[in-house]
Amino acid sequence: VKATEFDLHAVLKDLVLLYEIQDNLSVSWEPIEIPVVINADKTQMNRLFTNLLQNASESAGGNYAVHVSITESLRGDKILLEVADNGPGIAADVQARIFMPNFTTKSSGTGLGLAICKAIVEKAGGNIWFKTKYQPDGTGTAFYVELPLAG
Ligand code: ADP
Ligand code: MG
Repeated sequence: VKATEFDLHAVLKDLVLLYEIQDNLSVSWEPIEIPVVINADKTQMNRLFTNLLQNASESAGGNYAVHVSITESLRGDKILLEVADNGPGIAADVQARIFMPNFTTKSSGTGLGLAICKAIVEKAGGNIWFKTKYQPDGTGTAFYVELPLAG
């Protein structure tokens, strides 16, 4: 793990662009005015948001709508990132297991994506959680990542 200080905008902007081109996703992207400087391993941050965007892309199916946003946490020393999709949501009986290694509901899934996300976020001193089926029609999933800012 090689921690350096960098602005998360740079990582996210590139990933959003990659998924727009690669998966033909329509990704709405909401950066914030201030720099989001964190002290972390850039490769791992890339992996974290790649895994979340990959899941969002797979869930969105033919609808192709994903929303990525950054907001300042109320405490000011942390940053909150959201990756939200308009997929069908996560079934109630599955929700407790999604962060477990090797758990997958996909025919060709590895079930490692979210286990890796959780390990990366916890190592970076942050938290990861989700809300699902929260839209009026009972669809949609949003993953949240809270990370400590540098300094
Ligand atoms: P994989 O993508 O290989 O299945 P993950 O660890 O990335 O493994 O995800 C585990 C499971 O969590 C998925 O198989 C799926 O059931 C559920 N899941 C994760 N993200 C989403 C999402 N955005 N929408 C719906 N279900 C999801
Ligand atoms: Mg996955």
